[in-house]
This record gives sequence, structure tokens and C-alpha cells, in this order.
Amino acid sequence: MVLDDLGSSLRGTLDTLQGKSRLDEEDVEKIVKEIQRSLLSADVDVSLVMDLSDSIEERALEEEPPGGTTAKDHVLKIVYEEMVDLVGDSTELPLESQTIMLAGLQGSGKTTSAAKMAWWFSKKGLRPAIVQTDTFRPGAYDQAKEMAERAEVDFYGDPDSDDPVQIARDGLEATQDADVQIVDTAGRHALEDDLIDEIEQIETVVDPDRSLLVLDAAIGQGAKEQAQQFEESIGIEGVMITKLDGTAKGGGALTAVNETDSSIAFLGTGETVQDIERFEPSGFISRLLGMGDLKQLSERVERAMEEAGDEDDDWDPEDMLEGSFTLKDMKKQMDAMNKMGPLDQVMDMIPGMGGGMMDQLPDDAMDVTQDRMRRFEVIMSAMTEEELENPRKVGQSRVERIARGSGTDEETVSQLLEQHKMMEQTIKQFQGMGDGDMQRMMKKMQGGGGGGGGGLGGMLGGGGGGGGKGPFG
Ligand code: GDP
Ligand code: MG
Repeated sequence: MVLDDLGSSLRGTLDTLQGKSRLDEEDVEKIVKEIQRSLLSADVDVSLVMDLSDSIEERALEEEPPGGTTAKDHVLKIVYEEMVDLVGDSTELPLESQTIMLAGLQGSGKTTSAAKMAWWFSKKGLRPAIVQTDTFRPGAYDQAKEMAERAEVDFYGDPDSDDPVQIARDGLEATQDADVQIVDTAGRHALEDDLIDEIEQIETVVDPDRSLLVLDAAIGQGAKEQAQQFEESIGIEGVMITKLDGTAKGGGALTAVNETDSSIAFLGTGETVQDIERFEPSGFISRLLGMGDLKQLSERVERAMEEAGDEDDDWDPEDMLEGSFTLKDMKKQMDAMNKMGPLDQVMDMIPGMGGGMMDQLPDDAMDVTQDRMRRFEVIMSAMTEEELENPRKVGQSRVERIARGSGTDEETVSQLLEQHKMMEQTIKQFQGMGDGDMQRMMKKMQGGGGGGGGGLGGMLGGGGGGGGKGPFG
């Protein structure tokens, strides 16, 4: 994640301010040094770092903390505001008919991002289409077509043509019924004149409403020059930063955005078409500083719930909060949790849980979960309707039968029942809370921390406190 390091190191420094109500110069200097160190090591441009730290220092020393605020909160607020200011607003993307052109070096993630954006627009109720104009990279057509299929969107490409400009022209014509036409282009290993020529010609034909530069989060200081060149040739309205799920620090991309006076439109966080987030400066920085990102989290929860519900029209998450919690509900719940994305990303969005808490879990925590879910599914398929509706009535003899019938063992069957019990308890705590009352739910999650049955940990894993009985165990 971008500048992840800043979040944790800054929190460490801020913790030393605990209890103080006023900051002295020494405190401020310490904090500013820490910020500079983190930003520089994350490849953010030097002059940018200096500007930022100057304004933080000035404000921290001059502004009076409002009554009742601790020095720590005060500084955090200043850092937060200055950082939000630095990354700027997200690129404007009206939900209406438009043409978007993607540019960027080879391997930056254009083709993947085209499919992700198309998927994103389709979730917003628009009809997108992808036009693939890369005639340079072998297999580009097949890759783009396959990604478009996964995103379930219209696609145009011509594997037999070697004229990207003509493909663009034909593609726009062929997909004119679509609301959002996304034109994917070729890239090279480095910016070469013929690439610039080609992309300028495509741009003339396409006449896009906006051109987005796709940048790999791993790009360092080189981002500056690259962004400037694309800006000169076609004009860049926004940036999509990809591969934020990796270890890259992303500071270079941040620099590029600033240099070209553009903004961030999307973040790419994985290899599947759903791994896309609309960039939101305040949420992004909150997350970075370990304040959690409630809005993103609630959107993801909603989306995942909707999708889980899609597959079974009879299932309504609301019912779960009212009636009894059956094994079928549990499976839906686990599916939904899974669809929210990698567990560590979800955790990062929860206040009090971000900032490396997940680092304490084994790397394969999520795999274990999925593996376990698959086994649970097999077991459930060996259960009768009655048992699925009333898992508490399943006694020892039935456990034996189910274990045999599913080709698993009694222990795993018992674990499934145990997990159901714990989730049921958690769900009961949510019962009676108002519609979409995310705020309170978050409070509960926060309170639940890493253990007990009450937190998200409880919902996901049946409680880490249960002695390794959760899916992490
Ligand atoms: P293009 O050459 O610019 O079209 O780049 P591609 O879309 O072909 O992507 C290059 C590689 O990066 C592929 O293996 C993608 O799966 C991968 N990739 C793209 N975006 C992401 C991302 O957000 N996260 C991860 N982990 N991989 C990505
Ligand atoms: Mg490509």
C-alpha cells in the first residue's frame, strides 16, 4: 500500500505524544523528520516532501489546538489535512456516456485496468465496452477479450489487423451502443517516438473525454518524466495506480500526479476485475494514517452482500438479522466476507485494526479460510434440509453420519457446528440495530479487536480466542 510505512512510523512517533496537551518545538521537529523520512523512502519527490513538511511544521507550531483536543489528535489532523491536500481530489468521473482512453508503459496494467474500469462502470448501471488496440504485444487480443468476458462487458478487437488507429476507429463504431467506451492501447518498455506517434494518432481518432495514465505503484522517480511525456502528447486527466496489493510504495505515482497537475482516479489492488477502488483522498489518507476508512468498508460490505444475495434470490441479509441464523445464512455470510477481498485489505479499513495488525497473522490466513470454507461446503452438502435449518439439533450420531457422508471427519463437522454457534452469537449482537447503522457496527468491531466473539474477527473466524478453532487455526 502506498506509503504504508508512513502510517506505522507516524503512529509510533505520535504515540510518544500520548497525554501531552501541547507540542513543543522538539516534538514537532521529531514528527516532521519522521514524515520526511517515510515519504522519501517511498520515492516521493524531494521538493514535494519539503513543501509538505514545511506546511505541517508551520501549522503545528502556530495553530492552537482547539479546546479538549490532545496534541496528538491535533497533529494528526494537520498531517491528515496536508496529505489530503497533497494527493488532491479524485479525478472527476461523471456517471454518463463517455470515452476513456488508457495510456501507459507495457506491463503497467492497462489491459487489466480497462476490464476493471468496465466492471466498475457496469456496477454503476452503465453499459461499458472495451476497445483493444494493442497490435504490438503478442496475445494482447486474447488477453483483453478474456478479461472483458470476466467483467461481462462488450468487447471489440481485431486479431488480424496491425493498424491500431484503424482498430480504434472500427471499435468505436462497433461499440457505439455502449455508454462508456474504454480504449486500451499498446505500451512499450520505455517511451519511444513511435509509441508517442501511435498514441497521438489514436487520440485524434478517439477524441476521448478523458485520458487516464496507468501507472504501476512500483514506479519510482521515473514516474515524473513518463507522466510529463504522456501529458504533453495526449493530455492526462487522471491516473490509475495499479498493483497496490504488492509491496510497492507508490510514492512515484504520487509524484507523477502532482507534477502533471492531474489526479488519481482509481486504485488497482489485485489481478481480478473486481480489484478496483475509486480513489477517495480522505478515505485513502485516513487509512494510511491508521484512522480506518469507514466509507470504503461499508461500500464493500454492501457490494459483497448484494452479490451473495444475487445468487440466491430468497436470501436477504436483513432476514439474517431478524430471524434465526441457519447454516445456510452462515455460508452466505462467509461467501460475502470472501467477496470483500483479501482479509488484510478489509482489516486495514477498520479503525483500530489497520496498521500491521494483520502482519501478526500467518501469510496464508486467507487461504486457510478459503480451504476451510470449501470443506464446510462439502459437509453442508451432506446435511439434510432440516439439519441446515437447525444446526443446534445435530447430535453426535448425526455428526458421525455427516462425517461419513461427506468423506470428512467428525472433528471438522464439529468445527463447522462450533463456528456456526460463534457466528450466531455475533449476529445476535447486531440484531436490533438500525438499518445500515454502520457506525455502531464499526464500534462493535473495533471493540472486538482481534479476539472474542464480538468483533469482525468473530464474524470472520468464529473468534480468535476460541483456541485456534477459527479459520486461521
Ligand atoms: P498492460 O501491458 O499495461 O496492458 O498490462 P497488463 O494489464 O497486461 O498487466 C500486466 C500484469 O500486471 C498482468 O500480469 C496483470 O495481471 C498484472 N496486474 C495488473 N494490475 C494489477 C494489480 O492491481 N495487482 C496485481 N497484483 N497485478 C496486476
Ligand atoms: Mg495490454
